[in-house]
Amino acid sequence: MPDNGNPTAGVKDRLRIPHTPYAEREPEARVHDFQDIVLGYDIETARREASRCLQCPQPSGCAAACPLGNDIPAAMWLIAQGDFIGAANIYRQTSIFPEICGRVCPQERLCEGSCVLGKRLGPPSLGKLEMFVADYQRAVEGWPKPTLAPATGKRVAIVGGGPAGLAAAESLTRFGHGVTVYEAAPYPGGLLMYGIPSFKLPKSLIVEKVEYLAGLGIEFACNTRVGRDITVDSLFEQGYHAVFLGVGANIDAKLKAPGVDLAGIYQSGEYLLRTNPPRELVPDRFREPPQVGKRVAVIGGGDTAMDCLRTSLRMGAEEVTCYYRRTEAEMPGSKKERVHAMEEGARVEYLVAPVRFIGDEDGHVCAMELQRMGLGEPDQSGRRRPVPIKGSEFTVPVDTVVLALGYWPDETIGQTTPDLKTHDYGLIDAETQTGQTSRPGVFAGGDAVTGPDLVVTAVVAGLHAAQAIHEYLAALN
Ligand code: SF4
Repeated sequence: MPDNGNPTAGVKDRLRIPHTPYAEREPEARVHDFQDIVLGYDIETARREASRCLQCPQPSGCAAACPLGNDIPAAMWLIAQGDFIGAANIYRQTSIFPEICGRVCPQERLCEGSCVLGKRLGPPSLGKLEMFVADYQRAVEGWPKPTLAPATGKRVAIVGGGPAGLAAAESLTRFGHGVTVYEAAPYPGGLLMYGIPSFKLPKSLIVEKVEYLAGLGIEFACNTRVGRDITVDSLFEQGYHAVFLGVGANIDAKLKAPGVDLAGIYQSGEYLLRTNPPRELVPDRFREPPQVGKRVAVIGGGDTAMDCLRTSLRMGAEEVTCYYRRTEAEMPGSKKERVHAMEEGARVEYLVAPVRFIGDEDGHVCAMELQRMGLGEPDQSGRRRPVPIKGSEFTVPVDTVVLALGYWPDETIGQTTPDLKTHDYGLIDAETQTGQTSRPGVFAGGDAVTGPDLVVTAVVAGLHAAQAIHEYLAALN
């Protein structure tokens, strides 16, 4: 084996270094609490794993596949030599969230999925190495202090404190602009705080990040829903020079089926909100945990469905089943998430869809009628369309049902903002590269524009919009 980071080590030497998977807590232990399941790397294993990087010439496949364009080979080189802070700073040149993206990106579809080491040898664990160096840096020297440009006197209102909004806020602050983040929830973070479960993303990390942003001078106005409590027009009247809309997409898609309003049936957004974030940061009306019975059915097949399955197990459910209307090949989420859910004891029934929900005498769900599906021709998404099989209905007993069918944006912003063009249930029309909307001075990005997508793509949208807003503000002079 070559020395870790030895500049003279050749490709053959590097190919001989075995893959070291990052450590995770055992399923039997982790399923009883909401603590992070990833233990990650230590110094020696991180160096060894990073040494497997072949240092492909630029542009490397991994960096090209990273939506942020992180210079991954440079970071791997420094990690292999033990310069973890240098590596963390490489990530921080292009990313404001390496400790978060390293945890929650679906790396198998992005950076790791494009590594030339491919399926046979397996890519280095790029995401968890990114997480390792970012955590290491904060443990050794705290959150790094960026250089802020001199104050410009310009003010920007950020609507929505999720990943797109926080990325835009930090970037605009670095440009020297005054920034206020308006957040409808009691605490910023959006889906980072209220959507992604704690066992995937510890909430202490989000609190630390928000405190760090406040330390840079960013103001937070929480419990303030723009579109209901105040309007975009009123923000301009208050003297803001530009507005960024990063309100996300957090309205649960509804299922139309008899009995869907029975007690014991939850939408995934509410279910995760009632179970994962610290209680004191949850809106009052959602502080009570859901009633989770012994048999939980989760309808849907994406990452949110997996989050609900795993949350149900942690809430004490004994039989936790995902019901999905296509097959595993058409599932939209990450394979890593499915594997984690199955390791923890969840199971999946493919090619079934709910027909109706049946209640007991107290109006609580007690059973669910399902119908089996076949697969027809591909639909607009490119996936084969589920086709009901007549006469295949059957009933299963359930105590709790969670509907994880996707999310839509809140239409309120579009309805209350003159000249702001929207489409498809409130998605905001905005230019891809700049986030410029149909209304001058108003920019938008993230899930409110694209529909539900990745954290990292929302961060990219926030950074791009911040650059465009900076240029817009400069032109106002
Ligand atoms: Fe990979 Fe995501 Fe990190 Fe980019 S941000 S290097 S895609 S884990």
